[in-house]
Amino acid sequence: MIYQRSSQLFAEAEKVIPGGVNSPVRAFKGVGGTPIFAKSAKGAYLYDEDDNRLIDYINSWGPMILGHAFQPVVDAIIEKAKKGTSFGMPTELETKIAELAVSMVPNIDKIRFVNSGTEACMSAIRLARGFTKRDKIIKFAGCYHGHSDSFLIQAGSGASTFGTPNSPGVTQGTAKDTLLAGFNDLENVKALFSANKNEIAAIIIEPVAGNMGCVPPSAGFLQSLRQLCDENGTLLIFDEVMTGFRLAKGGVQELYNVKADIVCFGKVIGGGLPVGAFAARNEIMNYLSPLGPVYQAGTLSGNPLAMAAGFAMLQTLNNDSDIFKRLEEKTAYLHKGIEKVLTANNIVFTINRVGSMISVHFDANPVYDFNTAKNGDNETFKKFFHGLLLEGVYIAPSAYETWFITDALTYEDLDFTIAAIDKVSKSL
Ligand SMILES: *Cc1c(COP(=O)(O)O)cnc(C)c1O
Repeated sequence: MIYQRSSQLFAEAEKVIPGGVNSPVRAFKGVGGTPIFAKSAKGAYLYDEDDNRLIDYINSWGPMILGHAFQPVVDAIIEKAKKGTSFGMPTELETKIAELAVSMVPNIDKIRFVNSGTEACMSAIRLARGFTKRDKIIKFAGCYHGHSDSFLIQAGSGASTFGTPNSPGVTQGTAKDTLLAGFNDLENVKALFSANKNEIAAIIIEPVAGNMGCVPPSAGFLQSLRQLCDENGTLLIFDEVMTGFRLAKGGVQELYNVKADIVCFGKVIGGGLPVGAFAARNEIMNYLSPLGPVYQAGTLSGNPLAMAAGFAMLQTLNNDSDIFKRLEEKTAYLHKGIEKVLTANNIVFTINRVGSMISVHFDANPVYDFNTAKNGDNETFKKFFHGLLLEGVYIAPSAYETWFITDALTYEDLDFTIAAIDKVSKSL
């Protein structure tokens, strides 16, 4: 038993924390078994409470794009901490990180910092509703925008009807304002616009989806959404909590050359501390309190430690002209390697990848939306996950998650991973 101490710690945690975890996917419900407890991490490696070394492909679900305990980020946090950890007053550093973010991302003039991606998305739709004076929003099945009420909606009896809440505690009243469409299904979106003329405040989308595995937009899909929004006086919100500062300096707007009206950030922008942000052009951002009528606030928003970590992270990404190319090359190398060994072992699979986001689906058919993502063979995934864990490779404990490649991974690490996948796939 190589996860003895982790198992004990989990048993203790379960007594005082619901399910033993502070965020559900950590509990290994999708794969069985009990979660690994982290003790420390450095670069591409995690060390658990049983002192096993794991090559990490989760990377805190995205933020650690430069690897764990990245020195400039750690130094920035330590220096700041010595000078006080929270003031509830403006600080110069908030302006500096805002200036840097605005200079890196296209089509934004102003940015407001919050404490999580959930907060960013929740605030973005409030702003869109206030700005357009409309109530309804369109979201896509399989896209995750955090856990605020409006987003916990699944397809009910079809995407053209009102959504029903898929969590107790979300009221029908909230659910009725969230319209659900299929990812990459333009006709579906058009039908929602026809049925709800002048009522739709915003479309919110993960422009490259990462919460049903990695699912790229089909050619022209984002551009068509842009056009539909323009024709209907609707705002287009890109939830770039996962993709922002990961797929390109300017995120998906830059990568696919399409303009969003509001952009949400999280994960990488905080350098591993709790940070989210939302941004837009002046006309929209000036609608926000205290300039405008839409209220939004936070006691710890713009926290100095969080801003120091985020600033060090963004500066590093901004100053390294090669970083996104390097990440893409490493991910492409891994992609090829996995493809080769899975094929050699007669495993049925599809691999999706954009930049440094990649996912392996145990299904032969293309994965382009939530339904096709659900077709993957979950029993095979479970065996794959636990097999890799025993080999010292840690991927997300769910078939619906993207793997995140970090700059700290060496080609030796990638070769080790490919060899582990080869070994594991022989027993699938
Ligand atoms: C992680 C994520 C969120 C939620 O961010 P939290 O910081 O977990 O609240 C929102 N949107 C997307 C696309 C995400 O990947």
